[in-house]
Amino acid sequence: MTRMANLLQVAQLGSPVLRKKAKAVNDFLDSNTQRLIDDLIATVKEANGVGIAAPQVYESKKIFILASHPNARYPNAPLMKPTAIINPKIISHGREVVKDWEGCLSIPGIRGLIPRFKSISAKYYDRKGKLVKRSFTDFIARIFQHEHDHLEGILFVDRVESNKDLISEKEYLKMMAKRK
Ligand code: ZN
Repeated sequence: MTRMANLLQVAQLGSPVLRKKAKAVNDFLDSNTQRLIDDLIATVKEANGVGIAAPQVYESKKIFILASHPNARYPNAPLMKPTAIINPKIISHGREVVKDWEGCLSIPGIRGLIPRFKSISAKYYDRKGKLVKRSFTDFIARIFQHEHDHLEGILFVDRVESNKDLISEKEYLKMMAKRK
């Protein structure tokens, strides 16, 4: 029998849970873990996000969802099936650092121009508890690093090189419309 996923409340900037280091998951197949993954996927979809981490829904656990797809918030995002990433480690990264705009469901209305590695190699467990080693580049690598930061209590606003690289969502959308 399938269960309807619940939409979860998203913790906002200032909430202490966003600043805590998340705990590793041991019980991959536990129904609470599986339910949390389903609820995270439903919540990120509803919010038009491209990723969400468990601490953002008040669960300080090393789980996040990669859910890149083109939408109003990220018109140029590549399409991928929502994927649960558990206990991730970034093993290595390329030398190249690229800056691009990011937002965060926990910091609504703000965008930041954030430097990230263009390519990374990571290992993590999937929702069945299988160990996966995979490389990511460009936008997906960016989401991976953003969500990985959430598990360490780091937010994108911590990574701006200048406060001038923070702008409102409204100005961001204006700028994107001009680029087309
Ligand atoms: Zn975020």
